[in-house]
Amino acid sequence: MAKTLRIHSFETFGVHDGPGIRLVVFAQGCPFRCLYCHNPDTQDLETNKTILKTVDEIIELLEREKPYFGKSGTGGGLTISGGEPTLQAKAVTAIFKKAQEKGFHTCLDTCGAIVNKDVEELYRYTDLLLLDVKHINNDWHRKLVGQSNDNVLKNAKIREKSGREMWLRYVLVPGWTNQKEYMLAWAKYFAHFKTVSRVEILPYHELGKHKYQELGRKYLLEEIKPPSQAEINQAKEIFTEYFGEKVLVH
Ligand code: SF4
Repeated sequence: MAKTLRIHSFETFGVHDGPGIRLVVFAQGCPFRCLYCHNPDTQDLETNKTILKTVDEIIELLEREKPYFGKSGTGGGLTISGGEPTLQAKAVTAIFKKAQEKGFHTCLDTCGAIVNKDVEELYRYTDLLLLDVKHINNDWHRKLVGQSNDNVLKNAKIREKSGREMWLRYVLVPGWTNQKEYMLAWAKYFAHFKTVSRVEILPYHELGKHKYQELGRKYLLEEIKPPSQAEINQAKEIFTEYFGEKVLVH
C-alpha cells in the first residue's frame, strides 16, 4: 500500500470543506480540466513543488490541530480535497483508516472522476463524501471539464447504495451551469437519494484567474462574470423545491 501522499498544499482552520473546523489537505493531480478551476496548479500529478507526506506525518499534523476542531460546535476533522484525491486512493485510504482509529471524522472532497475498487474501498473509510456534480448534461459536462459525467453519476450511486452520508456540490457558472432546464434535471436526478444531507451551491468566482497567467495558460472563461444575486436566487429556488432546507449557498 502506498505510504506517501502527493500534496499541493494544506489549510488549517478550514471551514468550507465539511462540518466544523478542519485540517484540509489538497492532493496533487486531477483527471478533469474544468474551465473555471481556481487551482490549475493542482492538476498535474508531477510538479517540482509537490509536497510528499507519509501517513504518519499527516496524522501528526491532525493531532496538532485537534484542540481547535471542537470549537465551531459542530465538530471537525480531516478533509482530503484536491486536485482529485481518488487519483491516490490507496494513500488516502491509509490516512483515513488511521485517522478514524484515532477518532477523527474523515471527509473526502471529490469530483467523482474515477470509479474502481480502490475508490470503493476508500469510501468505506470516508465518513462524509463531498461530491461535485458539475453538470447533469453529458455534452455540457464534456465541454466544461473535458470528460463525460458517467463516472460521477456512478460514484453517486455507489455512495447512495452504501447508505452513508454525502453532500452534493454544484458550481454555478453563468452561461455554463445556470440553464434552468439542466438545474431542474440535476435536482430531479438526485431528489430521491436518501444519503444526501446537504446540497451546496458554489457561485463561480474569478480568484484563480491569475494562476493561469503564471502557468502560461490561457483562461478560457475570461468573459464570464460571477453570478448575480438574482441568478444565485434562481438556482437556490430550483434546488430548494427538491431538497428543502438542505440547500446552502457558499
Ligand atoms: S475537478 Fe477540481 S481540481 Fe480538478 S480541474 Fe476541476 S476544479 Fe480543478
